[in-house]
Amino acid sequence: MKLEKKSKHSDRYDLVKRGGNSAVMEAKKTIAARCYRLKSGHALIAKYRLRIGRRKDMKCWWCGHEYQTRDDLFKWCKRWKREQKRLWVDGQEGDDGYEGVEKVFKKLKISLPMSLVFAEEKCLQALMDFVSCTDVGRISGVVEEAENSDHEESSDGGV
Ligand SMILES: [Zn+2]
Repeated sequence: MKLEKKSKHSDRYDLVKRGGNSAVMEAKKTIAARCYRLKSGHALIAKYRLRIGRRKDMKCWWCGHEYQTRDDLFKWCKRWKREQKRLWVDGQEGDDGYEGVEKVFKKLKISLPMSLVFAEEKCLQALMDFVSCTDVGRISGVVEEAENSDHEESSDGGV
């Protein structure tokens, strides 16, 4: 009788195990990618969408502010107030905690250009966390306007 060595078995087990982790890894990669696009300026924000001709204005689709820029989203957009407070002021406690960006720089957010914050390694975790908790730079929540949609919604009867 020949004993078959089931070398495949452990391989498969390993794959399953990896499959379990890869969902988490994938999520992290997606967030890192979103962070990177926001850093490079090629993200899904109105300012960039206008530049590449996908929108006709820079209006923020969350708070209605006239200019949705990276600065606006990370600092001022009303939709992400809570997340902004953690990013700039509170930071996060615990093992993978981090300091608020204002503490890292010892400056207020109004005097900190986002390019500076993105370039600071100590702020990376805070930025990643902010991005993961918000839809900033993500497809979802975006109302894309067709270039030729110049009709106005005339019926706003609700007073
Ligand atoms: Zn906004």
